[in-house]
Amino acid sequence: MTSSERTHASIDPALRPETLAVHPPRVEVTGSVPLGVPLHQGHVFAFESADALADSFHSADSFLYSRMGNPTVRTLEDAVARLEGGAGALSFASGMGAINAVLFGLLSGGGHVVAQRCLYGGTYAVLTDLAKRWGVEVTYVSGTDPAEVAAALRPATRLLYLETIANPTTRLSDIPALAAVAREAGVPVAVDNTFASPLLCRPLALGADLVIHSATKFLGGHADILGGIVVGDDPELLGRLRHFAVEMGASTDPFAAWLTLRGMQTLSLRMERHCASAAELAARLSGHPAVAAVRYPGLPGHPDREIAERLLPDGAGGVISLDLAGGRDAGRAFVEAVRLASLSVSLGDVKTLVMHPASTSHRQLDAAALEAAGIGPGTVRLSVGIEHVEDLWGDLDQALAKAL
Ligand SMILES: *Cc1c(COP(=O)(O)O)cnc(C)c1O
Repeated sequence: MTSSERTHASIDPALRPETLAVHPPRVEVTGSVPLGVPLHQGHVFAFESADALADSFHSADSFLYSRMGNPTVRTLEDAVARLEGGAGALSFASGMGAINAVLFGLLSGGGHVVAQRCLYGGTYAVLTDLAKRWGVEVTYVSGTDPAEVAAALRPATRLLYLETIANPTTRLSDIPALAAVAREAGVPVAVDNTFASPLLCRPLALGADLVIHSATKFLGGHADILGGIVVGDDPELLGRLRHFAVEMGASTDPFAAWLTLRGMQTLSLRMERHCASAAELAARLSGHPAVAAVRYPGLPGHPDREIAERLLPDGAGGVISLDLAGGRDAGRAFVEAVRLASLSVSLGDVKTLVMHPASTSHRQLDAAALEAAGIGPGTVRLSVGIEHVEDLWGDLDQALAKAL
């Protein structure tokens, strides 16, 4: 038997049923290409020779074992890298997997990070853990003041960590101004771009070195996968993260990658609708008697309106946060009164989701800690889906009537 027959040729149909059941015939596609992305669910690949198998350990382009690389997952990595304008990407089992790869890949004991104050809760928790267990020091900054970043940098600083749009305050970070300060000092800049998606903002072009996504949110978009991606423009830096990623093992399941790719085909249409509906609802909410304040970067009164005009010219995203005039009780009443919107923690989904941080995700925080995080007792976060905007307004309006 030749080596090619060993891995590729059809199995002798005269073999016994027990054997045939384990070795189905292989259907090769010739003369046409599948328009949909093929799903390579298998985790391990067979080789024609011992040398080919040995060589593949040293090649990023061949596939051996799916924790180290898989064709469907690689398709997702390449697709997001192209959207973000990066040289390459690494895919993970969740957004937190991606965040951990960046933090653990770049930091070691005694290192220092400068991070934006209002961070995704999971990221804040990892930084707090790193500080306790490994002596990593963290300086928190506002995200809008380059002089504050310049003052925070130290010789031991290994990373500046930002988010394009912060949760749930919807404050923006001035990526180009802050990245310029860090780059000048030779400090890599990572930006969590989950809230903007690559359709609204491409941080690499603004001076970032790494872009992070929770693909669970807008990229996937359909509440059916967990995923995370890191995109970079420096192959050396990506290589360091890849090394750590393979060891960490938070690899993407090929089916999750396949579903993410399927979701991404409509990303531009979804983002257009998320942004248009969020802008319309933010404007209507601003005039409602039950609402004390609306925070949406597309609204004229937003504190970072000038940054929004520079960094988010194609839309200010799908997430609105609002303060209900009636405080905590009104917030709770509102999220329980919506019918079309779902009371749910995630965001970036085709369905509209609402949540009340003070009674759910941030319930451990006392009044002072809530205020420091920019969250009021009556703050509600709204992730605007792609339903018809008038149906959404009908739902919000009836729920607001119960929160007066
Ligand atoms: C959800 C989220 C994450 C974490 O992503 P998972 O996929 O849930 O692990 C990180 N950053 C932001 C901004 C998020 O919204």
